Amino acid sequence: MIAWKSPSVPALPGHSPELVLHDTAAGAPVPVRTGGEAGLYVCGITPYDATHMGHAATYVAFDLLNRQWRDAGNTVRYVQNVTDVDDPLLVRANETGVDWRELAAAQTQLFREDMEALGVLAPDHYVGAVESVEWIVPAVEDLIARGIAYRVPGTGGEPDGDVYFSVDAAADLDPQEPGAWHPGQVSHLDPAGMLPLFAERGGDPERPGKRNPLDALLWRMAREGEPDWDGGTLGRGRPGWHIECSVIAQRFLPQPFTVQAGGSDLIYPHHEMSAAHAWACTGHPLARHYAHAGMVGLDGEKMSKSLGNLVLVSRLRGQGVEPAAIRLAILAHHYRSDWFWTDAVLQQAQDRLSRWRSALPLAGEAGSQRLLEGLRSALADDLDAPAALAAASAWAEDALQAPGNGTGTDLAHAALDALLGVRL
Ligand code: ZN
Repeated sequence: MIAWKSPSVPALPGHSPELVLHDTAAGAPVPVRTGGEAGLYVCGITPYDATHMGHAATYVAFDLLNRQWRDAGNTVRYVQNVTDVDDPLLVRANETGVDWRELAAAQTQLFREDMEALGVLAPDHYVGAVESVEWIVPAVEDLIARGIAYRVPGTGGEPDGDVYFSVDAAADLDPQEPGAWHPGQVSHLDPAGMLPLFAERGGDPERPGKRNPLDALLWRMAREGEPDWDGGTLGRGRPGWHIECSVIAQRFLPQPFTVQAGGSDLIYPHHEMSAAHAWACTGHPLARHYAHAGMVGLDGEKMSKSLGNLVLVSRLRGQGVEPAAIRLAILAHHYRSDWFWTDAVLQQAQDRLSRWRSALPLAGEAGSQRLLEGLRSALADDLDAPAALAAASAWAEDALQAPGNGTGTDLAHAALDALLGVRL
């Protein structure tokens, strides 16, 4: 599927230092050694309510990672999926009487427009679940053949043959091998901690016939009123969510690739299971590092569809809010922290943007060199955007208080654009 139009990234003199990134699996900041080739997978949206501020914050956060890597001299391969068939999408389509394909296409298009407006670099491969079915089926067939996946008989009106992934069988695969997956490798949760999250985030621990309540769905057999695809020996049906991302990542990125990323609500079960699936499919770890962005609420409350308080990027844009101000409002918070969207957050970002714009034509060369160094060292330190914004505001105040001759204008403009994705 087509992605969106990537903004151009101006070239800068010199390079960023090597990135230190907080790795969820390591539980600590770690140096990210890429060898000049970096691979990034950021889990995409399920297109039924694009693009709320939580989505925007996640994609802007890992856009900084992409930009930091490029500035450090890396070639970056970036992959993102679109879960364009899944339960929540089908539920929404049924509720609203819209064909699920039309809903997915319209919301995916809205997401593309929001990403383009926010200046997020486009993925090299933007891949839908529907177009991945043909790659997922053989992977699931192979897991069944090797005893790592199994079929569950139908009870209570469910059809026979849904396929589940055995976490216990996966944990027994060459456990002494370096990089072997074990339960909790990504999430650091024990089964008691996993269970409520599994139930809350799309899992079905109560499903009769499962070997372990925490086994994840790989293939859902065809049901009346649901779309289905040819599943070869599996029978007609549709894939589970974790195997979708795992197979797409394995297909378009090296094994392992550098960073698997997403919102912190994906740590378990989504990233834990995607890692387990990749290990079970290939004998290679999915990724070297896992990075997660915090959650965004509204005015002190959790932001959710059920509360009806989603802050949508498209709605803000429709109200005439400049996308660069939305981006700056996001960047005012460290990507790992949970935070709340408020009118004051947006106002502060708008004020900051206009202050920087006033300073730009007055920038001297030395100040802009310091700005470039400040931005680079902030981002290399676990993508510390608030520190980068502080460096930029210090630059702006210096330029306003002691106006230079504009010899630093081009450099400052390029540095803010290339590293923060903010075009003044
Ligand atoms: Zn994913």
